[in-house]
Amino acid sequence: MPLSDELRDVPVEFHCPVCSYPTVRKGSWLKTIGSFKCDGCETQVRIGYEEKLTIFERHLRKR
Ligand SMILES: [Zn+2]
Repeated sequence: MPLSDELRDVPVEFHCPVCSYPTVRKGSWLKTIGSFKCDGCETQVRIGYEEKLTIFERHLRKR
């Protein structure tokens, strides 16, 4: 299953695996990045394709 373009302009929430700090970014941003810096604990968190799929699926299911 590909990452849906449906969420391109939609704010998607996900949580830091280290400190659970919530981060909200647009789907388009999430699709392109490979890692991000958590605002909560300042850890550089890697996000792989599988994680992105999980985040997107969770968001779509929530609606
Ligand atoms: Zn964190």
